[in-house]
Amino acid sequence: MSRSAFDTAVIGGGLHGLSAALHLARAGRRVVLVEQNWVGRHASGATAAGVRTLGRDLAEVPISLESMEMWHRIEAIVGDHCGFHSYGQLRVAEFTAHLPSLEKRLETMHQQGYGHEEIIDRAELLKLVPAIAPHCVGALIARRDGAADPHRALRAFRRSCEGAGVVIHEGCGVTAIDRRGSDWHIRAGEQEITVPVIVNAAGAWAARLAALVGDDIPLGLKASMMIVTERLAPLLKPVVSVVGRSLSFKQSDQGTLVIGGGLQGRADIDAQKSAVDFTELAKGARAATDLFPSVKDVRITRSWAGIEAKTKDLLPVIGPSPNASGVFHAFGFSGHGFQLVPVVGSIIADLVVSGKTQRHISPFSAERLMTTRAAA
Ligand SMILES: Cc1cc2nc3c(=O)[nH]c(=O)nc-3n(C[C@H](O)[C@H](O)[C@H](O)COP(=O)(O)OP(=O)(O)OC[C@H]3O[C@@H](n4cnc5c(N)ncnc54)[C@H](O)[C@@H]3O)c2cc1C
Repeated sequence: MSRSAFDTAVIGGGLHGLSAALHLARAGRRVVLVEQNWVGRHASGATAAGVRTLGRDLAEVPISLESMEMWHRIEAIVGDHCGFHSYGQLRVAEFTAHLPSLEKRLETMHQQGYGHEEIIDRAELLKLVPAIAPHCVGALIARRDGAADPHRALRAFRRSCEGAGVVIHEGCGVTAIDRRGSDWHIRAGEQEITVPVIVNAAGAWAARLAALVGDDIPLGLKASMMIVTERLAPLLKPVVSVVGRSLSFKQSDQGTLVIGGGLQGRADIDAQKSAVDFTELAKGARAATDLFPSVKDVRITRSWAGIEAKTKDLLPVIGPSPNASGVFHAFGFSGHGFQLVPVVGSIIADLVVSGKTQRHISPFSAERLMTTRAAA
């Protein structure tokens, strides 16, 4: 591919790569996206797709709230509702001893001027989620939160990208990136691409891509697991998590229960494979039946684990490379990047097109992680 064909290359065909590509193309860039497997092969195709502002790290709250507004008008952005419903997300206190942590969180949010989280008592909890175990005493709620359908979202973002002129090459893993004057020369399978701008949205493999341009960014790995059950009659609408346990519990439009919460399986980054750890997974099933006793005889139909990068402080890396001009990073979403997809693409487009953004992104700098390693 000659330089004249494209001016920006996005590496990684997950939702963050697609969102960056879409916003860049709409801002007038000529974008090529390269994906080593197929679009949605990794975290974005394995995700629980919770759209959650509830309980976010304070540094993430402003961009998470902006992203939530974007989810509420997602059809206008990508031409499809992406299966997004806003029935709220709740963090349940099973026992009174769990309430102080929720009250403290609420106080912090109010001190910071945020009003999107509230505490509800047992009566309102039972009204919103009648199937919940009666011993639960209350919850923290974000009423505008919800969940989406990840595969529908992937199709919609892809369609929008292609409609905006993004060229997508699948089966093209990037193996080399070299400087050619002020440009970058990328080798990706059969493709040779020369561009001045690269967006690194390579998920679990992003540190390897960063290393190719001289950024040594330490990243850990997650292999979060999911359970899906047979279809049930309508049981609940909000997404439920619980203090002190790894549980995220919701029901899909099709009636299946979708159960996650961050329990970890095994990941092999070189083989690009992940595996379920059934002993760990049983803890999630136990938490689900403790909180929702009526599902104890429901059959599990599928389980899986998805690979994703995590950072030391569980905040993403969003911003320019410290060492390589023209390279921008968007990765390390540490298990909660689905909700941030619309806004991060817009931030990356800002940075590429105008060199700055109005969003507060300094907590997400690559430097914060690189300094730690240098000091170690
Ligand atoms: C089981 C599970 C449940 C989750 N639940 C939630 C949730 O409820 N809410 C939430 O907000 N988030 C959730 N997340 C996190 C969220 O799904 C991720 O943060 C998000 O999907 C990350 O998207 P991405 O595009 O950065 O990464 P990915 O989707 O992994 O995309 C990165 C892509 O880069 C490609 N790539 C890598 N190296 C190269 C290379 N050299 N050349 C070309 N391509 C390359 C990969 O093949 C991959 O397709 C969950 C994640 C998992 C795994």
